[in-house]
Amino acid sequence: CFCQLSGQIDDCFCDIETLEKFNNEQVFPLVSQLVKRDFFRYYKVNMFKPCNYFDGDIGFCESESCGVKPCSEEDLPVGLRNGNFNKHTPDTEDVECNKPKKSISDINGTLSNVTIDFLDRWDKHDDTVHQFCDIDDESSIELQYIDLIANPERYTGYKGPMAWRIWRAIYEENCFISGGGGTTAEENDGKRLKFSHSDLQGMCLEKRVFYRVISGLHTSINTHLSAKYLFEVIHIQIDGWGERRWEANLAEFQRRFDKDVTKGEGTARLKNLYFIYLLELRALSKAAEYFNRGNVVLFTGRDKEDVKTKEMLTQLLDLTKKFPMHFDEGVMFQDKNSRGLKREFVQRFLNVTRIIDCVTCEKCRLWGKLQTQGLGTALKVLFSAKEMNGKSDSPFQLIRQEVVSLINAFARLSESIKSLEMFRAMIKDTRNNG
Ligand code: FAD
Repeated sequence: CFCQLSGQIDDCFCDIETLEKFNNEQVFPLVSQLVKRDFFRYYKVNMFKPCNYFDGDIGFCESESCGVKPCSEEDLPVGLRNGNFNKHTPDTEDVECNKPKKSISDINGTLSNVTIDFLDRWDKHDDTVHQFCDIDDESSIELQYIDLIANPERYTGYKGPMAWRIWRAIYEENCFISGGGGTTAEENDGKRLKFSHSDLQGMCLEKRVFYRVISGLHTSINTHLSAKYLFEVIHIQIDGWGERRWEANLAEFQRRFDKDVTKGEGTARLKNLYFIYLLELRALSKAAEYFNRGNVVLFTGRDKEDVKTKEMLTQLLDLTKKFPMHFDEGVMFQDKNSRGLKREFVQRFLNVTRIIDCVTCEKCRLWGKLQTQGLGTALKVLFSAKEMNGKSDSPFQLIRQEVVSLINAFARLSESIKSLEMFRAMIKDTRNNG
């Protein structure tokens, strides 16, 4: 069975049982450990890029769960500290910071030089794609390392109009869909999104793929927050603070995905989760050779740690190649209009990544950035066959940020699929108990 992109609205949807078994039994146990290794644990990111998408007040997430704590130099493995590339032994001296360089990711509402350069090159080599995301200058002082384990993705309380506005901008302005107008004053005021899966009918393949990967990402985020939901104060302790627990919330999951509650939309959204998983899985299997040729140095300065990380990554990449139902990107961008469509596809994806800078919950922004960058990197891999095979004069390259986001983003999807198993078991228990 091959994952066919066939012209059906449910394209690429064959055998869920095989996919879940493959993920839950083989991929998840490996990738969930891999992202705990130092190389993948510390993500370098510019958390404070300006929001150029909305005018005026963009709101503020008041919940303390929204906060993110960046790493200080001492928290980092020695090889990741400023200027320490290639240092193997722990460094006890104070590290002198590099003189800041100008960041190339200055977007200011217009395309960065990198993007323009890339689009120009793409015009010349019509069947090649390089960047779906703005690339940050990794030596810029605007970037900070974040420990992803210390700042896990989970329920933060970011919701309502602030969050809807982001999703609405992503879908209606960038996902090639137009069915946005709500039916109530509140909906028309730009809050809720009114779009159903059946609106995909009649859309061309590439636009449908775009919508489905974004929707799959949305499903994944909402599955995580349902799986790690904040149960507020359980009992007041002596110091006046309540106990906080993050646990699975079945009611929250059902509200979003139960087919009866959502009139079938939830099921379609879950299918989109499998869809984006297959796309990223395919990208990893294609990137395997690039990684295996030693193009990516997994360096943290701790030799044993780095050897183990390399071993696990190789194992994961080998595994991805064994999956029997791969996504077939080869049928995309094949017809006579594909040149313009490709360009639009990249431009819209870049817009989506920039809208994330307007998310006012820091934790959501961090994981939103990481997962969209990971998805952008997967798309770059899928549509850069020529460069990866050395058949183009523009060489293929992945920087550390892209590698870290690619693996972490895939790990998030893998965990989402794994948690569906847990929610199913909870539903069964509830039924059995009455
Ligand atoms: P929303 O999820 O806000 O959805 C808005 C509308 O989009 C819905 O009414 C529905 O019509 C449509 N919709 C919903 N799901 C899909 C789908 N899969 N496909 C297509 N359409 C859909 N909250 C946290 O607690 N923790 C986080 O880490 C977190 N990260 C976020 C990251 C980003 C980038 C954004 C924009 C939001 C994040 N949120 C997070 C907020 C969360 O996604 C929801 O917006 C919030 O929980 C409110 O949910 P809701 O039920 O009102 O609908």
